[in-house]
Amino acid sequence: MKKMKVNLDKKMSASYEICIGYDILDRIGLVIAKNLPALHYIVITDSNVSSLYGGPLLERLRGMKLPADMIEFPAGEESKNIGTAIAVVERLLKLGADRKSALLALGGGVVGDMTGFIASTFMRSLPYIQIPTTLMAQVDSSIGGKTAIDLPEGKNLLGTFYQPKSVFIDLKFLDTLPDEEFNNGLAEVIKYGIIDDTEFFRFLEEHMKAIKSRDSGVLEKIIENSCRIKKGIVEIDERENGLRRVLNFGHTIGHAIEAESAYTVSHGTAVSLGMIAAVRISEKLYDLPEEDRERIERLIDTMGLSCHIPQTITTDGILSRLKADKKKEGNMIRFVLLKKIGMPFVNGGVPEAVLRETVEGLIK
Ligand code: ADP
Ligand code: ZN
Repeated sequence: MKKMKVNLDKKMSASYEICIGYDILDRIGLVIAKNLPALHYIVITDSNVSSLYGGPLLERLRGMKLPADMIEFPAGEESKNIGTAIAVVERLLKLGADRKSALLALGGGVVGDMTGFIASTFMRSLPYIQIPTTLMAQVDSSIGGKTAIDLPEGKNLLGTFYQPKSVFIDLKFLDTLPDEEFNNGLAEVIKYGIIDDTEFFRFLEEHMKAIKSRDSGVLEKIIENSCRIKKGIVEIDERENGLRRVLNFGHTIGHAIEAESAYTVSHGTAVSLGMIAAVRISEKLYDLPEEDRERIERLIDTMGLSCHIPQTITTDGILSRLKADKKKEGNMIRFVLLKKIGMPFVNGGVPEAVLRETVEGLIK
């Protein structure tokens, strides 16, 4: 089991450890004993993950004589709402949870965001740890302490920054992860290669086959590297005042595509399309070398992340979503663009004509 420390500003949050390994669930008790002292442990999970991994986790906890219970809610983004949050809180109260209890988020991003949100607000906050079970959560959402639930008006509108006491990443969970969910995580991995590290980008290019066949050694490397990049950015900018924005690479247009498709286009595909749009804009306006753009588009393509926007979506629809975003940020759409692979920057504004032409070019 490898360990990595997230070093945070002591005035805001405590530092914590990320543990990474394959088939390491037996170590969870030790991690909890060290990082999460409590009188009562409550695992929060969704209906899918509960049937796969809820039992084994509870067994480990009870095997260490730790008083433990589990609460599950229906799987899926539709559950990430205030109604589910209240239902979970009511269950917590029934189980007698109090400020001496601790929560364990066992699942993907939905479970992680929801559990973090409840942990940060229930009885004015409880400690929690993240046990991410999707690639997306392992490389992205479990690290950095963003918690949230969705409102009818939009995603992640109600939430906090609240860091976990530890992140426990067991690669074995990925054995059962469906391909589409796996691909969602891969899009974020490619994003790290593009915004941070040319060597990592090359590694991804060279190990495409092994990644697609989920070779555990290669996967461990890319998860470790992704965590290292994400934690490095979070350490410098915990509350997303500046640098952390580069993590939104591909996400501005990506979110517009997702929303415009009523979430029928997956997050990974939408972000991939957003990344392609961003590199095409970067080539047009900021001299991103053609070769870099081609390498990025090729990597996204060979990873199996579909490269066009479905025809049911219109350019106008996407542009009007982007403009609505713009109002929220003053009079600018802050795109993260690219000077070259490994060198992102936050741009003040892209002319509408360039944006229109780029989006149009992606619809097929
Ligand atoms: P994400 O992590 O991408 O934000 P979710 O939390 O919604 O998304 O998880 C995606 C789906 O995958 C959910 O239906 C969830 O129950 C399921 N899931 C999570 N982890 C696993 C796993 N290890 N094996 C199989 N299915 C999983
Ligand atoms: Zn994302």
